[in-house]
Amino acid sequence: MSIALKGGWVITQNPNRDIIKADILIENNRISQIGEISSADEIIDCTGCAIIPGLINAHTHVSMTLMRGIADDVNLEQFLEKTFKVDASRTHEDIELGTKLGAIEMLRAGNTSFVDMYYSEDAVANAVARTGIRGFLGWVVLDEQFTTQKGSPLKNCENFIDHHAGMDIIHPLVALQGVYVCNEETLLGAKELAYKKDTLLHIHLSETRKEVYDHQASTGMRPADWLYDIDFLCDKLLAAHCAWLTIAEIKKMAEKGVSAAHCPVSNMKLASGFEAPIPEMQEHGISVGLGTDGSSSQNRLDMWGEMKTCALLHKAQRLDATVMNAQRTFDMATIEGAKALNMEKELGSIEIGKIADLAIINLKHPAMVPTFPQNLISNLVYSCQSDCVLHTIVNGNIVMKNGKITTIDEIAIIEAAQEMGKKFHYDE
Ligand SMILES: [Zn+2]
Repeated sequence: MSIALKGGWVITQNPNRDIIKADILIENNRISQIGEISSADEIIDCTGCAIIPGLINAHTHVSMTLMRGIADDVNLEQFLEKTFKVDASRTHEDIELGTKLGAIEMLRAGNTSFVDMYYSEDAVANAVARTGIRGFLGWVVLDEQFTTQKGSPLKNCENFIDHHAGMDIIHPLVALQGVYVCNEETLLGAKELAYKKDTLLHIHLSETRKEVYDHQASTGMRPADWLYDIDFLCDKLLAAHCAWLTIAEIKKMAEKGVSAAHCPVSNMKLASGFEAPIPEMQEHGISVGLGTDGSSSQNRLDMWGEMKTCALLHKAQRLDATVMNAQRTFDMATIEGAKALNMEKELGSIEIGKIADLAIINLKHPAMVPTFPQNLISNLVYSCQSDCVLHTIVNGNIVMKNGKITTIDEIAIIEAAQEMGKKFHYDE
């Protein structure tokens, strides 16, 4: 099976950040040619469009879509109390359904990959396989005394990885809730598992000031300093949030090759951390991707909103309009996100040989006019929105065509999710 994308502007995100007028040939699941393509099994006319690398959502809890709006405008303690209570009542069925809903929302926005952290990731994996989105799925590990999971979380995670290794669009990994529910033994056991299975390792790190102060009170050290000392930090680690780090901690993370997922909307909405030192992390060579976090804190799985918010937040906070420019922000949602997942050889840019995870953006949408190569990246970051996306391709498959999801009955999922959502929104 081959697909030709003809006549569009290609936002390559290659090392030169070239933007070129060219056709793209996809054969099987890879980009095989960029240039002039005359024939293919299927041709998509991309005149008046931009072709971008599919967006990478570097941190979420996708099945929480069904919990949208259950705990807004409350402080973090009340938020956690409400969400933990609801989390404990979830079933395999509603986790799978919530994931399908989230996958549709992301595919509609040209978001082709997401990093997930939850339990029952086998239900999430089922939904990934059905919808055709690419999932980096982290089964969450924590101390047994804090979990509602049946059996050992670490063993559950290992079983999950064993059952889903080697699949095209499912990338299992080891996830950890955070230092507040994971002791040294749990953390190092999880790291060992990630090395044994050669997977990514994902954790929430220094999301709130309380997390840092509590950890200092119990260990005498800040979380990242402590994780360095116990030899947990490593180049498989993707740390979400990183809102409360010192420069000394950033240097230790950089030394160990740790990467990060910045979640500006979630941090602002929960008032949990305004001051994520992202520019400093980048200056020290840390790869930083962008994540939405779950729908109970971000409400939308919307990488367009996340990009714009990221750029505005850092500009406003530092009274410096140059500190987070459009190109740097777009990089975080594409090639830097791929680097953060140790997947830059496969994803994150449009180059020959890479996996065909792509989105095609309508430049005739009112929000995108006028567009020229000179302002294309700016328009993508500051103007573009989900409904500008016409087609989405994951692993060489057209999963959305002309705004219609091809893999699953979208209307049926929306109706079922509306019905299933009742149990989270009405106290029995
Ligand atoms: Zn999270």
